[in-house]
Amino acid sequence: MAEYDVDLFVIGAGSGGVRAARVAGNYGASVMVAEESRIGGTCVIRGCVPKKLLVYASRFREDFEDAAGYGWTVPPASFDWPTLIAHKDKEIARLSAAYRAAVEGAGGTIVEERAVIEGPHSVRLPKSGRTVRARHILVAVGAAPVLEPDIPGRQHAMSSDDVFDLGIFPKRLLVVGGGYIAVEFASLFARLGAEVTHVARSGNILRGFDEDLREGLRDALRQAGIQFSFKLLPTRIEKTAGGLSVTLSDERAMTFDRVLIATGRRPNTAGLGLEQVGVEMDVDGAIKVNAYSRTSVNSIHAVGDVTNRVNLTPVAIREAHAFADTVFGGKMIAVDHVNVPSAVFATPEIGTVGLSEERARESRTVVDIYKTTFRPMKATLSGRNERTMMKLVVDGTTDKILGVHILGHDAAEIAQAVAIAVKMGATKADFDATMALHPTAGEELVTMQKRTARYERAVVGEGAIPAPVSS
Ligand code: NDP
Repeated sequence: MAEYDVDLFVIGAGSGGVRAARVAGNYGASVMVAEESRIGGTCVIRGCVPKKLLVYASRFREDFEDAAGYGWTVPPASFDWPTLIAHKDKEIARLSAAYRAAVEGAGGTIVEERAVIEGPHSVRLPKSGRTVRARHILVAVGAAPVLEPDIPGRQHAMSSDDVFDLGIFPKRLLVVGGGYIAVEFASLFARLGAEVTHVARSGNILRGFDEDLREGLRDALRQAGIQFSFKLLPTRIEKTAGGLSVTLSDERAMTFDRVLIATGRRPNTAGLGLEQVGVEMDVDGAIKVNAYSRTSVNSIHAVGDVTNRVNLTPVAIREAHAFADTVFGGKMIAVDHVNVPSAVFATPEIGTVGLSEERARESRTVVDIYKTTFRPMKATLSGRNERTMMKLVVDGTTDKILGVHILGHDAAEIAQAVAIAVKMGATKADFDATMALHPTAGEELVTMQKRTARYERAVVGEGAIPAPVSS
């Protein structure tokens, strides 16, 4: 009898798990993948993909309005939420099937049930009562929404997971939280026609992002009708005949059709058997791994959100690919988590890569800022009152581009392309030497001549706050 039933047992068929299964399978490994929910994971089933489809839907309202300035007469448009959800479901089912095909095409087997780790080389499938002996185990179970604070009536609120299955469009929506998810859903529901109230415990949305992005997006979303209240949280939710009655920490009571709580996500490690086999985790339950995604147990690896490194789909995919290359392909590959671009798919959109101005000023001796805000060309004939913002954060000593921050149309697309230059270590001089492509918004990145500000760190010890010395 063989020592092991499979070379690799993957727990979780999301973006990370499926990539690892496919690459390992292509290296000739025998692979089994367990998934207790739908094949595809957070990104495909209840995250990036369906969210982006809803974002596209939310942008048509402005397109219909703007068309008039370009000579079009558009009949009054109406929107039907159930139609959107039905079409979205069809596309998600197609993608889920493609994920299944990716595993099976590489010779892998999928078991649709929960798996629990029993030993360094042993996985139990409680539903079917089987135990599988695996040479290697990969944990790729992702993370799940955390609904905070724990207030009376919290069970009446929903997480982002629930939004995608709502049968009825919520006309009055309360969004709680200031991160990616809260901002993206507040934006898309407001633009689909909901009255959106947005509350967060901090003084602004998107803590950690460049301040100009945070302020610019908040102001644009306010202009789109979102009612923001900061340093405020709900203290009670009650179900009434008129909807969900929410008491806020300033004693106000308001009624909504739905309450969306988006206050972060926590690794899905509970009940997986990890403690019993000695896999180390941090206080949040995230699995600790080395640069090759190996846990404290040699035969067990982990990738993606369950490790709480950079919680983005392409990062999980890259970690999974590197894991399979390292363990089955004979190439030691570690993932570089520096200068990962990211986007916030609000409208307007954020695209960003590298250090914010604030982080750069904390860590560099001299920081130069180049910033421009302008009216996008499309807004000239549409008459829409909107601005695009672009900002370069430059190391004043080496001339290296430390960060690029964009708020406006196609910001994510521009950020993806410019991230290559930032990753290669491009300097401001390299940007200046690049020919503009006219007329585009992106050309502003290579035509910013005038420095907006320079900050020099006073050499009086760590932690000194740099002051502007010229502008
Ligand atoms: P984030 O970590 O981005 O934001 C969490 C928000 O919840 C913060 O505003 C935080 O406030 C607030 N918060 C945390 N705890 C509490 C509490 N106890 N009471 C009140 N407020 C609280 O989480 P998200 O849920 O928005 O997103 C999860 C992850 O999903 C992200 O980190 C991201 O990696 C990923 N994601 C990426 C997207 C993209 O790339 N476009 C889109 C969606 C998700 P404070 O600021 O004060 O800490």
